[in-house]
Amino acid sequence: MQFRDLKKQYQVLKDRIDPAVIEVMTGANFIHGPQVGELEQQLADYTGTAHCVTCGNGTDALYLAMLVWQVKETDAVFVPDFTFFSSGEIVALAGATPIFVDVDQDTYNIDPAKLEEQVEKVIADGELTPKAVVAVDLFGLPADIKAVRKIADKYGMYLLEDAAQGFAGEIEGKKACSFGDISATSFFPAKPLGCYGDGGAVFTDNDEWAALLRSYCVHGKGSNKYDNIRLGVNSRLDTIQAAVLKVKLEALAEYELRDVNKAAEKYTAALEGVVKTPVIPDGMYSSWAQYTIQLPDRETRDGLQAHLKDNGVPAMIYYQKPMHRQDAFSETKHLYRDEDFEVTNRLCETVLSLPMHPYITDEDIEQVTGLIKAYVK
Ligand SMILES: *Cc1c(COP(=O)(O)O)cnc(C)c1O
Repeated sequence: MQFRDLKKQYQVLKDRIDPAVIEVMTGANFIHGPQVGELEQQLADYTGTAHCVTCGNGTDALYLAMLVWQVKETDAVFVPDFTFFSSGEIVALAGATPIFVDVDQDTYNIDPAKLEEQVEKVIADGELTPKAVVAVDLFGLPADIKAVRKIADKYGMYLLEDAAQGFAGEIEGKKACSFGDISATSFFPAKPLGCYGDGGAVFTDNDEWAALLRSYCVHGKGSNKYDNIRLGVNSRLDTIQAAVLKVKLEALAEYELRDVNKAAEKYTAALEGVVKTPVIPDGMYSSWAQYTIQLPDRETRDGLQAHLKDNGVPAMIYYQKPMHRQDAFSETKHLYRDEDFEVTNRLCETVLSLPMHPYITDEDIEQVTGLIKAYVK
């Protein structure tokens, strides 16, 4: 069994993907071919945003937002403690100070009450200025944007939506990638919308920022690539990836999003009362980058993972280590007390992500849930 079956997806979409890729190779427009602009328009339309700027990967997409906002060392950027490394890495790499915030044990997303506590603490300490908050849509579920937006507005902070895992999720009919002042996503192959290599995109309704993003991702270009008016990076989505993504975006909208939600319903129906299943708050819709359960303790979790593996079922631990304990952030370790991250510390010991993708069969779900029921009871 595959954790995320990209081979099966390719077999289903092969008749559409192969000619699209061959068209790029025939035209030899490998960089900035017409498919890139077409995809950007389709992504903006799909997410309901004014501007989409594609780039090299999801980490760059987040980093580009830091460049646009010109963050500096005395700026605090609030980041959930339970997420992939990039969400905090880009803050420190841009020279600002990441301040980690514990998450909600049901949604895995940033806890708005704890966010406000951390902002107040930063203000009281008087060394840093609250500048931005990174709201991560973890495992496909949008962050609690209403509450986070209120806090961002109250303290004059920008909101960066890290929708690397959240593409196609919804809050009350509004699509992910439209919730931030700037939003970023990743097209890493295993994400809800994945390409055949690395890729990413940035979204915003702000015309001025969109122009800055287009400059920063091409060496800080002015009127052209050889007129450089600021320092930037070289980060772009190549045309082959854009051609692949155009097909995959259609498939996601046509049936994949629906089918992955059906799979989630089946998992939850079989596992409810056996283990802690994912919670989807009212009005929210997940794109299920992961289907993640919680076990009572580390021993049970690790034992179950091994038991599944012995039976040919891959299950993964996202994430093993809280952000505040990563050595890469050791410079800011004095800012934290381990007990301020009670939920994240526990989640890192108890979570387990199960095989999940739009092409998973009922038989696979029955096998996985059968093994879990037998092990846990
Ligand atoms: C995958 C991921 C990223 C980074 O995306 P890449 O395309 O791998 O650079 C950032 N944030 C989160 C939450 C992710 O899951």
